[in-house]
Amino acid sequence: MNQDELLRLFKDSGALLDGHFKLSSGRHSDIYYEKFTLLKQPAICTRICEEMASRIRDQGAETIVGPTTGGIIIAYDVARYLGIEAIYAEPGDNGRVFKRGFSLDKGRKVAIVDDVLTRGGSVRECIELVNGYDAEIVSINVMLDRSSGRVTFDYPFDALASVAADDWSTDECPLCAKGEPLTQRGSRKFKVR
Ligand SMILES: [Zn+2]
Repeated sequence: MNQDELLRLFKDSGALLDGHFKLSSGRHSDIYYEKFTLLKQPAICTRICEEMASRIRDQGAETIVGPTTGGIIIAYDVARYLGIEAIYAEPGDNGRVFKRGFSLDKGRKVAIVDDVLTRGGSVRECIELVNGYDAEIVSINVMLDRSSGRVTFDYPFDALASVAADDWSTDECPLCAKGEPLTQRGSRKFKVR
């Protein structure tokens, strides 16, 4: 699948919306992404995970690591396609930790996966965690990169799709300048955080 087909899936799922949105920060944006609108639909989610798995297949990964919460769903399904194991990085007192008896042997080949890359915090915590076990990170993979290239890693990185996620103060908003009304997402359908 190419980027256009993947973006079509995101849009068809209702997770990726074009319009004129007021974000929880109060800033305005022309794109709104509610990741769990996609993740709650296994039939669509698994098509994206299959594509991610196909890109990881030749990297020799032995374990997929994903951070809570969305990353668990991705890690599980990608690992299922690859026939390998998935383990999950959960919040600890200081960064991410493995619980539930999860562990990594020294030198084990690991692919890190996550749903959305915004500021990269959860992926960085996974990198730190995996490096703490002296395992080998073969790649970092996300479904959707909305960092506009501002987030980079010292490992091979792949985003299935990228969107430029600009946001503006009300004063600078080009959509407000054009007089476009704010898109109403409906309070019942979306909980704005
Ligand atoms: Zn605006």
